[in-house]
Amino acid sequence: MIDTHCHLDEYPDLAAVVRGLESAGVTTVAVTSFPSAFVRLRDRVRGQRRVRIALGLHPLHAAALPDAEWRLFDRFLDQTSYVGEVGLDFSPQGIATRPAQERAFRRVLQAVAGRGKFLSIHSRRAEEAVLEALNAYAAAPAVFHWYSGSLRSLDRVLAAGHYCSFNPAMVASARGRTIIAHVPRDRVLAETDGPFVRVVGRPAAPPDVSVVYRHLARQWQEEVSIVVDQLRWNLLALIRPEGAADLTTTSLTPNCIIPSRNLP
Ligand code: MN
Repeated sequence: MIDTHCHLDEYPDLAAVVRGLESAGVTTVAVTSFPSAFVRLRDRVRGQRRVRIALGLHPLHAAALPDAEWRLFDRFLDQTSYVGEVGLDFSPQGIATRPAQERAFRRVLQAVAGRGKFLSIHSRRAEEAVLEALNAYAAAPAVFHWYSGSLRSLDRVLAAGHYCSFNPAMVASARGRTIIAHVPRDRVLAETDGPFVRVVGRPAAPPDVSVVYRHLARQWQEEVSIVVDQLRWNLLALIRPEGAADLTTTSLTPNCIIPSRNLP
């Protein structure tokens, strides 16, 4: 199983979480909130095969980012295929810094455009603005992490070729389950957003991504193993679109839907 959005650097005992990845057989995309956090985490988990570290710039930090952080962003972008968490946040927490967030997000998109990066996107109360910015820089396809906007905007997100990653908090809420049910099988990824999302009263850890896999299995009326295959193909189609076509002809599980990029 793959957890495509987890804040590994926010756990008090990182080593224990990394050991948990090995024993559960879970791989995680460790998103970061600013570039110096990427550099620190990289030094702490170097050589761990189940961790992919994403270079991030959280919208709630983006407004007041020192130049030194921007220099780190530019310097380390080539060292990872994963970028996140980036995006826009127009909730009450973020609305005051909207113009600065938009400038920062556009600067990020300009830097990543055409470089084939995996993009984990924060879009709270800003779905349409995020979509517009992605379109402007031809950054598709990206992954909308914890999408919480309208179904109408979600249709536009999907029509533009993007993916969604679902977490246990979405599975636990009626609204979240409606959103999950709305997304086609070949656009789905799973995440925990740990440790911020909680599962049975404690902070979620990457192995809790199984909650999402089990929910999808029930919704699709498939075995969990089919969901595991489907989400692996989806990620491959996203990060290696040219290679995914070959893979599908060789060993694709019959019940998987062949992922296509569905670009606009
Ligand atoms: Mn997050």
